[in-house]
Amino acid sequence: MVKDEFGLITYLRSRLASMRRTDTVVGIGDDAAVLDMGLEKDYLLWATDSIVEGKHFNFNIEARALIGRKAVGTAMSDIAAMGGYPVHITVDIGLPPYVEMEDVNELLKGMEFLADLFSVDIVGGDTVASDRLYISVGCLGRVEKEWLTLRSGARKLDEIWVSGPLGGSIYGRHLKVSPRVPEARFLVQNFKPTAMIDISDGLVADLYHILEESQVVAEIVRDWIPLHKDARSFDEALYMGEDFELLFCLSEDDSRRLEAMGNKLEYRFYHIGKVLEAGSIGLYMRDGEAVYPLERRGFSHF
Ligand code: ADP
Ligand code: MG
Repeated sequence: MVKDEFGLITYLRSRLASMRRTDTVVGIGDDAAVLDMGLEKDYLLWATDSIVEGKHFNFNIEARALIGRKAVGTAMSDIAAMGGYPVHITVDIGLPPYVEMEDVNELLKGMEFLADLFSVDIVGGDTVASDRLYISVGCLGRVEKEWLTLRSGARKLDEIWVSGPLGGSIYGRHLKVSPRVPEARFLVQNFKPTAMIDISDGLVADLYHILEESQVVAEIVRDWIPLHKDARSFDEALYMGEDFELLFCLSEDDSRRLEAMGNKLEYRFYHIGKVLEAGSIGLYMRDGEAVYPLERRGFSHF
């Protein structure tokens, strides 16, 4: 077994595929687990995300609040990717000797910023001694059953969209995560997104998750992909990741409606491509007259 992240998740998913309970609606393989806990209209969503010093951030005094914000924001982003909204979080902190009480206070400020913004309660966690700082956040969310959006529903002729410009996040923006909860809620309330994911690994890698789960072939158009002003090359929009934007598919009808709403909207969405066919998995880039296949690859941070 190759111990890269995708390989490991594929292995865990097949190993842990058999579920023991009927209230598990979706287990491993989407942005959050989906649980039917007997609520009439809603499912519960459950996502966890960890960030580790040296891998996802470097510890420095100025960044402390943003590190807390990132830990919470990435978990909330996974809840948004299901069409839901966050309600409760738990926070596990691995504390190295050089992180003082005052630092913890600053980390908490960043967490509370997002908790306030989305009316979320921090209801528990765990604290352990560690040789480096890490924060692991568990986030519970809710979504109306009819609005649940998985990675697996993309269909032939669907249009592909993103919720914001991509690339260059690692140069600084990656800590300042703004989970696209309002955008996700706007989408599910007004449209029927067929598939959705948040971009953590990069546009290409995360689009491949949708394509794989939906068993479809898609094309993205180079000129339509919004490049963030922080990006130093176009490739960063495709592969750098940590954008935490929503990547989603809409039927042609919904897509036309969203297009028509255009500039009148509070949020800006960008149409970047199309699902071409169903039955196999593939991704192509259209660049002027040229069309070429895009390999599934990510970007190695730090
Ligand atoms: P995301 O980037 O959206 O946070 P990940 O790539 O981290 O998603 O995880 C993909 C899926 O694999 C999720 O359903 C997640 O819960 C599951 N997963 C990741 N690591 C583990 C693990 N160690 N044990 C069980 N499930 C895992
Ligand atoms: Mg995700």
